[in-house]
Amino acid sequence: MNNNDLANLIFPNVKDSNYYEELYPERSLKEGAMVTRFAPSPTGFVHMGSLYTSFSNLMLAKQSGGVVFLRIEDTDQKREVENGIEGIIRDFNNLKISFDEDPIKGGKYGPYIQSERREIYQSFAKKLIIEGKAYPCFATEEELKNLREMQELNKERIGYYGSWAKYRNLSIEEAITKIKNNEPYIIRLKSPGDFNNKIILDDCIKGKIEMPENDMDIVIIKSDGLPTYHFAHAVDDHLMRTTHVIRGDEWVSSYPIHKQLFEVLGFKEPRYAHLAPLTIKEGTTVRKLSKRKDKESAISFYHQLGIPDEVIKLYIATINNSSFEEWYIANSDKTIDDYHFTFDKMPIGGSLFDLEKLMSISKVYFSKLKASDIYNRTLEYAKEYDNEFYNLIVNDPLYLTNLLNIERNIERPRMDIGSYSDVKKEFWYMFDELFAKEDNPYQDITYPYDISFIKDYFVNIYNEQDTEEEWFNKVKDYASSKGFAVNRKEYKENPDNFLGNIADFCSIIRVMLTTSNTSPNMYDLLKIYGKERLLKRLDKFLNDVNKG
Ligand code: GLU
Repeated sequence: MNNNDLANLIFPNVKDSNYYEELYPERSLKEGAMVTRFAPSPTGFVHMGSLYTSFSNLMLAKQSGGVVFLRIEDTDQKREVENGIEGIIRDFNNLKISFDEDPIKGGKYGPYIQSERREIYQSFAKKLIIEGKAYPCFATEEELKNLREMQELNKERIGYYGSWAKYRNLSIEEAITKIKNNEPYIIRLKSPGDFNNKIILDDCIKGKIEMPENDMDIVIIKSDGLPTYHFAHAVDDHLMRTTHVIRGDEWVSSYPIHKQLFEVLGFKEPRYAHLAPLTIKEGTTVRKLSKRKDKESAISFYHQLGIPDEVIKLYIATINNSSFEEWYIANSDKTIDDYHFTFDKMPIGGSLFDLEKLMSISKVYFSKLKASDIYNRTLEYAKEYDNEFYNLIVNDPLYLTNLLNIERNIERPRMDIGSYSDVKKEFWYMFDELFAKEDNPYQDITYPYDISFIKDYFVNIYNEQDTEEEWFNKVKDYASSKGFAVNRKEYKENPDNFLGNIADFCSIIRVMLTTSNTSPNMYDLLKIYGKERLLKRLDKFLNDVNKG
């Protein structure tokens, strides 16, 4: 009896591992091209953390002329989520993110779902058994529990290793007898490592990290015949010819296992890049952004707010590479795809997730869009999230487009819109139906003089055909005739001689129409709103203000 007999008994029907080596040859790509992958478990949705990881993989592969693929890691069947794979693929589609190879598109290195690669893992596990580098372990729950207790008692490192690994030296005959007796087992690596040796992870982002060599006989194939994450990672990333494993840094501590697996399997090790996690402030502490707990983690949160996917990507790019933001400001005509992402600009420690920053990026983004684009996208957004607004804007595209055009195509455009929902917040007062819903729109505004003269201005002076210059000249003349200073200096010198200055006069008009003292350009607003409607709005204003 030898290792072959044992291996054949355990895996009677699997192909020789060379078959797979030939089936999945080296990819022929140009020098320096990276092959990367995003490898989520089938959680059913893409969250900010997974977007961050996939984005890094995507950008580096694409800009190097390489390949990026999506691999679903579903070997932990206890954690299966219904429609978990479809959900992830749907979210990526919605985000307009596509991989060169994925479970739907396929590709030459598939299947891209781990549970469909069962035989492949078994083939390599069989190879290791034949070579005496892996073995069946029959330890029961009870035995493992006792082992742990003994180790705790003796203050030894916890785990299945060295002389604690009871089944590593079982004779082949004994193992075969147990298998034939249907005793349950798993397959473990017979680790050749020594904990006192040091190994080095040369991480593309974090630099060199020294760690003890692995000496644990880790599980490679579980009792359900599926591999563990570690084993699947080594086999898949070898056969799928990954050059760079870019993943979350919670995996750094597993590197000694991975290095060893690549060695015993005779594979060339890929480069590793461990991404710092996204973090969030909670009170005074900083913790990892949680995909379950934090609303900021869900992409749907941004969709509901009306933040475009492009902005989410811009934000991800900003935290991913420290030079991105500066570059993007300096190259406002370029897109993310034009930026060259490099490992050395990626953060080593956590990246603080900052919603305010995201919003400010969004405002810059919106300031560069065409008004008609914002209109169309706002319409689409409102259709899904705000029926009332949708009905108000759907039949008159020009009205809102004109509003959005105010102070837009200028050197320093307005920066007040950061989301589709902001459009309504910014211009609600231009819609009479929304205005009518407000109980007391002009909050806390009182005037130290009678403002009824403003009616005379609108009835007799205001002319919507005037140019902006004519309009303002008339405002000045009229304000002056009513006792307002039109010259700042004069007003400053003798404030008591005047009711107020020209800005105070304008603010009456502004508040009347918008309820607030800050607004986009008044001339444009008045013209778009129209004289007839203004007169009605004016009556309400005078009535409300006099009441107050
Ligand atoms: N399935 C693993 C995870 O979701 C993948 C880690 C990796 O990229 O290798 O964390």
